[in-house]
Amino acid sequence: MHETGIAQSILDIAIKTALENGAKKINNVAVKVGKMNAIDEASLRFAFDALKEETMAANATFEYIDVPLTGKCEECGYESELEGYFVLCPKCSSGRVTILTGNELEIAYIDIE
Ligand SMILES: [Zn+2]
Repeated sequence: MHETGIAQSILDIAIKTALENGAKKINNVAVKVGKMNAIDEASLRFAFDALKEETMAANATFEYIDVPLTGKCEECGYESELEGYFVLCPKCSSGRVTILTGNELEIAYIDIE
């Protein structure tokens, strides 16, 4: 379950950021997760909730921002949401599709005090 490792790094970054800003606690952590990461939201949330105990983020809520997989066709310029990893343009069937969004795995913002 790679969600545990990911939850740990999210928590580490959030705490580091909070400390750097002189905060005493973390109220909310919002994370952008692109579809390409194949992360299970429930597992990530569960791991985060387990790991945050005994830290300054113990009462923090976890906000999961789902980023869809989208791409742009290099042949006809058509942009669309994609279904899978190996994709063809839905309009002209070209295989030259560039991924625009969906690789994200980062903290969008945190709420500290
Ligand atoms: Zn196309």
